[in-house]
Amino acid sequence: MLRCTVLASGSKGNCTVISTGSTRILLDAGLSCREIVKRMRFAGEDPDKIDGLLITHEHQDHIQGVSVLARRWRVPVYFTEGTHRAWARYVTPRQTMSFPAWLETRKQKAAAQALAAEESEANLSTQNLTEASLETCETAEVIEIAAAADDPQALPGEVGGEAGTSNPAYLPVVEYFCAGKSFTIGDIAITPFTIPHDAADPVGFVLEAEGMRIAVATDLGYMPPNVQMQLRRADLLILESNHDVEMLRDGPYPWAIKQRVLSRVGHLSNDAVGEFLANRFDGYARWIVLAHLSESNNLPALARLSAERALQGRSNTTDNQVMLATQNAPLESIYL
Ligand SMILES: [Zn+2]
Ligand SMILES: [Zn+2]
Repeated sequence: MLRCTVLASGSKGNCTVISTGSTRILLDAGLSCREIVKRMRFAGEDPDKIDGLLITHEHQDHIQGVSVLARRWRVPVYFTEGTHRAWARYVTPRQTMSFPAWLETRKQKAAAQALAAEESEANLSTQNLTEASLETCETAEVIEIAAAADDPQALPGEVGGEAGTSNPAYLPVVEYFCAGKSFTIGDIAITPFTIPHDAADPVGFVLEAEGMRIAVATDLGYMPPNVQMQLRRADLLILESNHDVEMLRDGPYPWAIKQRVLSRVGHLSNDAVGEFLANRFDGYARWIVLAHLSESNNLPALARLSAERALQGRSNTTDNQVMLATQNAPLESIYL
């Protein structure tokens, strides 16, 4: 039996657990580790037995609990490489300086180097050559290590030692996947697919086990053909229904954020979901979970009404059940 429990969904945190008898996968970790564990226990899912954490993209509401969960519970984290790098940048404290300050440090460094060169010349005349060579080797090693720490090509988590305690981007186990390439965790087959959203390399997922199929697409600005294709033949559809367009336009968000949400790399509106369900949905899914509802710019009743109205207008659907995922409490488990 395939079991799906949306532990939380919305702009303050997203996390879903999908399990079979032998495999348990978390989809995003957008709550604190403590809250995820609490909600898993509440839902009857054992946090000691998580086989993998899949990350859709690096926005805060999807990654908040990643580090602590992965380290404390030794959970392998699955990213695209682009998302992993973006996540690492996000969790690593930024060191910024003004241009004059940077210029000053360059000057000081050059002066120190000139001084060191002068001193080493003087030393060479008094020390034997072997000693001087050894010293140069040691200096070179130090420089190499320092360079590795700054190397943009170094993979996140590579620098910082085994325990990685000093490195905020350290994770015990990282696995990479690519959109379009399927892989498995235990007895669950996973196919990531690209979604249009303003993140480094965002994806949705299709998860299949025991002949059942779950498709997850949240955080996307519109529904391109590749996404529509992935949602076909899904028994359970978890679909973003983020905002009511009128509420967003009249709502409290600053103009720039409104533009971002409405853009083609923003979030799906109730209307966009309605249009999909009315005209392009294959009618197959037994369960449709509306997810990532905005607390400021949507009402559960509006999202449900829009989806149900769209489904009623169709002739080839029978028994689609619309459910609403919420921010503050887990949704009841769905058994497929
Ligand atoms: Zn996002
Ligand atoms: Zn999100």
